[in-house]
Amino acid sequence: MSKIRVLSDQIVNQIAAGEVVERPASVAKELLENSLDAGATRIVIEFEAGGRRLLKIADDGEGMNRDDAVLAFERHATSKIKTADDLAAIGTLGFRGEALASIASVARIDLMTNTEENAAGTRVIIEGGRMRDVKDAAHPRGTTITMRDLFFNVPARRKFLRSEATESFHLTNLVTHYALAHPEISFTLTNNGREVLRAPVANDLRERAYQLFGEEFLENLLEVDGGHPQVVRVQGYVSAPRDRRTSRDAQYLFVNGRFVRDRLISRALSEGYRAILPHGVYPAALLFLETSLEEVDVNVHPAKTEVRFRRNAAVADAVREAVRNALASAGHVRVEEAPAVQTEVKLPQAPASPPSERIAAAAPAQQERIAFAVSPATLNEAFRSPSLESAAAYALSPVSIPLEPVAFESAAVDSVANTAPPVEVQSTEAIPRPSPEMPPLNSAEKFVREVAVESLSAGIRPLGQLDDSFIIATDDDGLLLIDQHVAHERILFDKYRRLEATRSAESQNLLIPETFDLTPAQAAVFEALSPELESYGFDLMRLSGRTVAIKATPADLPASEARNMLAEVLDTVDAEKKGAARETVRDEIAASLACHAAIKVNMTLAPEKMRWLIDRLVLTSSPTTCPHGRPVILRLTTKDILKGFHRI
Ligand code: ADP
Ligand code: MG
Repeated sequence: MSKIRVLSDQIVNQIAAGEVVERPASVAKELLENSLDAGATRIVIEFEAGGRRLLKIADDGEGMNRDDAVLAFERHATSKIKTADDLAAIGTLGFRGEALASIASVARIDLMTNTEENAAGTRVIIEGGRMRDVKDAAHPRGTTITMRDLFFNVPARRKFLRSEATESFHLTNLVTHYALAHPEISFTLTNNGREVLRAPVANDLRERAYQLFGEEFLENLLEVDGGHPQVVRVQGYVSAPRDRRTSRDAQYLFVNGRFVRDRLISRALSEGYRAILPHGVYPAALLFLETSLEEVDVNVHPAKTEVRFRRNAAVADAVREAVRNALASAGHVRVEEAPAVQTEVKLPQAPASPPSERIAAAAPAQQERIAFAVSPATLNEAFRSPSLESAAAYALSPVSIPLEPVAFESAAVDSVANTAPPVEVQSTEAIPRPSPEMPPLNSAEKFVREVAVESLSAGIRPLGQLDDSFIIATDDDGLLLIDQHVAHERILFDKYRRLEATRSAESQNLLIPETFDLTPAQAAVFEALSPELESYGFDLMRLSGRTVAIKATPADLPASEARNMLAEVLDTVDAEKKGAARETVRDEIAASLACHAAIKVNMTLAPEKMRWLIDRLVLTSSPTTCPHGRPVILRLTTKDILKGFHRI
């Protein structure tokens, strides 16, 4: 007897549901996308018990006739594409034709729909993939889908659902994203009968963001509008450098109106903040990328949250530069720094140039980009001492040699194309040659190490500061570099945890309470987290709607940082971590508090302050790593220094 059989539609749909339906929010995503594809102008969403008991989405889109309403639940049934060629340019959010079939296989669905007013509408009832009833029903133009009892027939999946608070958070977050992407559509969201979001039709993104997040949110944002003419337009908002987050959760990225999680974009975004935000700290962002449909492949993942760009590098460059320009126009970076990578973006113009040239051209520019907010003048100054100068000149010689043959090579190629001399001259001039005073930036890489706790002696002596950000110190083993921000962060983290654990948190009352507008998603977790926040010294009072008054803050936390810190905690501390791992939540709050209260980089420290920081640091639970896991101290040992100078 043969052992292989073709699975029934029922099982196939449930398998597909495994990929498409992870939680109530993923059902909401598919249903919302269908409403948007149907051209809705008004979308009303309701849910109960975190969406597992009920999730209902009503739209006023084009609706379906009776035949379509039944067909819609078949697997691979779609009105959005017809041929394989259509896959190359998908203009709708849906196209796979499997969402409704998958959802219907793991829940109870009641669909009501109508294509025009004054005609008989249709009602379809399906439970666990079985069609129960199809009949006439009155319904205005549009579609209302009610999903009940998610995973009622798949107990194993039901177990993976998180607490009501967590699922509500994800649902609210998702609806917020789509509301942001579509200011032209009115959205209403109700959780357990309570309205949590109402956004009437808005004129533009700014107005929509105001409806959802309040005025304060916008005040702190910088507008982004840029891109690359042939490839992508980049618009939206990013946060000012003072607004710091320890995760990427406040980054909302959209490609052609589709909410995506995209590493390429978020990395390019961070690069836009190079030298402004330290490693491990992320900006908040609302970025909308528009490309022509052929530039992006959306058929990458069943949940359609990932995309692939045809011209990856150009998209990354465009995002980085658009963000950089936004920061420059707000005065956070010098404007002339911005065009550094334009040469790369323009590369399509010169397709004849050999790849080796491109790499060589990019290398020196990249070296400069890695530099940590140090102006070339300061660096030159620092390297002008006689011993270093000769070392630098020596180290540089191997770098400059390869540049010559490359220039010849490109001249040869270009002369064939009949444009040789001018292009050649231009391109060599465009290459920023490293100035002879600077050694390659990686020259110390193999010597400088993170410090192990055991090797930390008590006799650390501060010598001064590098770039107002790092304390230069010595001990018996050599030279130490201490990141002043993370060092202070570690000290404060330990202090906050200790005070919290002994229930002796210190508060400072604010003369005038500050108000703080919660986003809908933050409001969903606020009640659960406020006792934890109060145990650290906050005094918070929920006012009407989504406004909270901050009456007192933990000691050491500057009042100006309180809002940032609260936003960060409410955005990132996952509600599901409460209960089971209360300690984890407490650690995360303490880490966030420490980060916001700690002295910053780019700040001059008096010698006594450096001394104080070091003395306190060595007494902490983990002097060599910060609460977010980054190194606090780097070491260059005397032995390595001697080796470097060929003395041993
Ligand atoms: P896809 O969106 O990938 O086409 P779905 O399973 O989500 O697949 O939906 C199947 C079809 O049902 C859609 O192609 C569309 O024609 C129809 N449909 C689904 N939801 C709606 C809606 N809210 N309004 C109108 N038509 C809808
Ligand atoms: Mg769909």
